[in-house]
Amino acid sequence: MVRFGSSPALTCPASETNREMIRKAPGIVIVLIALVVAAGPVAESAANASLDPTAAGARRWVRSPLIISFSSSLNSPPANIKPDSDVVGALRRALQSWEAVADIQFFETNSSAETISPSHQGDGVNLISVSTANAAMFDSSDAPARTRVFYDSGGTIVEADIALNPRAEFSTDGAPGTYDLESTFAHEIGHLLGLEHSAVIGATMQPRQARNGTYNLPAFSQRTLSEDDAAQARAFYGPSGAAIVGRVLTNISGRSRSIFGAHFYAEDVEGRVVASGVSSAAGQYRVEGLRAGVYRIFAQPLNGLITPLEMGVDGNAGSIETTPFRSFIASNSTPSLSLNVSSNSVRRLGFFVLSVGPSLTPRLIGMNGELCTTPLPLRAGETVTVYLAGEGLDEVPLEGISISSALIRVVADSLRAAEFEVPYRVISFEISLDEQLQPGDYTIRLQSRDGELAFVPGAITVDNP
Ligand SMILES: [Zn+2]
Repeated sequence: MVRFGSSPALTCPASETNREMIRKAPGIVIVLIALVVAAGPVAESAANASLDPTAAGARRWVRSPLIISFSSSLNSPPANIKPDSDVVGALRRALQSWEAVADIQFFETNSSAETISPSHQGDGVNLISVSTANAAMFDSSDAPARTRVFYDSGGTIVEADIALNPRAEFSTDGAPGTYDLESTFAHEIGHLLGLEHSAVIGATMQPRQARNGTYNLPAFSQRTLSEDDAAQARAFYGPSGAAIVGRVLTNISGRSRSIFGAHFYAEDVEGRVVASGVSSAAGQYRVEGLRAGVYRIFAQPLNGLITPLEMGVDGNAGSIETTPFRSFIASNSTPSLSLNVSSNSVRRLGFFVLSVGPSLTPRLIGMNGELCTTPLPLRAGETVTVYLAGEGLDEVPLEGISISSALIRVVADSLRAAEFEVPYRVISFEISLDEQLQPGDYTIRLQSRDGELAFVPGAITVDNP
């Protein structure tokens, strides 16, 4: 056993029961409130339909440009935002990040309003506010921000407002303990555009935002949209791309049954995670917004770092029913199993899997003496010690640990058991990133001695230097 100093505290817990969890406001709940307003009572299937972005029930804008009203509060921010932070600059950069990846145009205007629309009555103005006047929307400092989306019965978004939590602290300079403003805006603008959460850990749209100081580093990586975020934006707003779609089924007591909440993701030939999707109640998944190219597809249950509830898979926590299955490689690099996707094509790929629950479940990742659920922000050329915590990890030998890129090497003889104050087994190992490694989100893959697989897609995020 290796001890890391004085049993490092878990400052970034992932347990759903821990109120210190740093998690974004669950967008789906807010969206459903909006649906009640716009389209009457919410059918159960409405929540499930949100998993299938291009299906009926998808919510997106049809007008362009989108007029965004900058609240006067952005120019005279309250005390929870560190003095001299560039609030307006952070918002503009976040808007530009989304404009750069898809056919999206924003038009900036100003408003003296500080309070966003109540859920029962929109005003057609897309207000972005940091005012303390929105305090009633938040019951603690856990959620850094909220986006309230209004849409009509056809799924067309008619208004979206963003409020920052006045009880949370923000900065633009990486001040420890604060949220990075540009990262928060980038995530919420994703919701404003109609995007749901992603289960790719390195995505800006993953459900949680790290505070600055997590892993002893500034938490800037969500400023940069990942390929997964960009693919989802392209799927909604163009330019159009290719898609891999299909159904995932299992057999229970002799009857075929859909698997709900299966996370599918695609990696390019360099091992970068480029797009993802989650299966609907009917077992249908879509991985879309893909450029022409060769991909590998992987599937995993959402039972580890990110849960179905956080994904907005269901707005009603009491009714989640997911069928257990084990992670699998849906296609791989051998020529017969890789998927060559041409532009604007739709490839169909269905799966029938055994209903066997996983025994290998990574739940936390970490580095620099800390465990968390946010990605490890690394640079080409670095060698770092990585932690993984979860069930079944003691059954994974060093040769069972790999990274999706050939340019990230697991260092020989580096596997150790580590001790943290968490109820899971924790292992550590070193990885070495080649100088030639390109920016992107990379996956940690695990295989136990008896062959069971588990993935942590996008756990390693490499931004431009
Ligand atoms: Zn969110």
